[in-house]
Amino acid sequence: MKAALFEKPNVFNVVQRSLRPLRDGDLLLKVEACGVCGTDVHIVEGTSRSSPPVVLGHEFAGTIQDAGTTHFVPGQRVAVDPNVACRRCFYCRRGLVHLCENLRALGVDIDGGIAEYCVVPESQAYTLPKDFPVHAGAFVEPVSCAIHGIDRANIRAGDKVLILGGGTIGLIMLQLAKNAGAARVFLVEPLGHKRELALRLGADEAIDPKVTDVHALIFDATGVGADVVIECAGRMQTAQQSLELARRGGTVEFFGVCSLGETFPIEPNKVYFKELTIVGSYVNPHTFSRSIAVLASGTVHVDKFQLDRFPLDGVHEALTMQREGKTIKSIIEPQR
Ligand SMILES: [Zn+2]
Ligand SMILES: [Zn+2]
Repeated sequence: MKAALFEKPNVFNVVQRSLRPLRDGDLLLKVEACGVCGTDVHIVEGTSRSSPPVVLGHEFAGTIQDAGTTHFVPGQRVAVDPNVACRRCFYCRRGLVHLCENLRALGVDIDGGIAEYCVVPESQAYTLPKDFPVHAGAFVEPVSCAIHGIDRANIRAGDKVLILGGGTIGLIMLQLAKNAGAARVFLVEPLGHKRELALRLGADEAIDPKVTDVHALIFDATGVGADVVIECAGRMQTAQQSLELARRGGTVEFFGVCSLGETFPIEPNKVYFKELTIVGSYVNPHTFSRSIAVLASGTVHVDKFQLDRFPLDGVHEALTMQREGKTIKSIIEPQR
């Protein structure tokens, strides 16, 4: 079959690749749609961890062709949770499957979904409702991660929430924050087309940091700073800024994926004095079925996103558009 194989930094090509044999409990999936995200860009550039050679693609859904289990039948459509926990380490036994010491992910360590077919352990497959749109299948994973982020951010009714970064994740977070009861949501994003989309998706203000003093605007609008700041850009500058933009007693969440090894200076006295809560949010523990429910109900609109669909051979263009922010989401449809 054809698959997009990552071999080493900057060596990433569509090649012929054989599938691993189907074992008991495995499903053979014909991939309908697989999203490309910032993590894929980081992996290809060598700034994010992975286990090459490996087929990339961790945001995907498809139709079962063959099942080494009785729990699924051929013809069923499923979305795939890429994160495979060992279920026996200290963290797994505490229910913290995302912190598993042996966590491996489809599309990062195990062959993933930017391919015509993928072999998936049945534990990772979630049945999709009838009529679930093909493109939405590529959003189940990112929305599941954002739901974990919203849970961790502990937004309360009436909160004023600031989101730094209006890419796919920022635009999903914006909608989830509104749904969680935020009174006002501010979104900071330098690209105009993403700001316009943010406003259509319910942002109260979409701020261009190139022309507006974000700090002055947020303090004018709130008087005290944001109750919750969610960093979705994965940049040092916005990560550092987030600590300044939160109010005393506020919460700062680092959600955006920064490059490995990048750092910024922090003044502990400010964290102490402002009594800030700083939280991380990593992947999607137990949020996958909630993500399907959110997408099926239409309370998060991914249909309004600018989507760019590519066949497998268009994977480089898909990656470039994602890297340069020219699309909200590049989606690979391997059967095209
Ligand atoms: Zn992703
Ligand atoms: Zn484990």
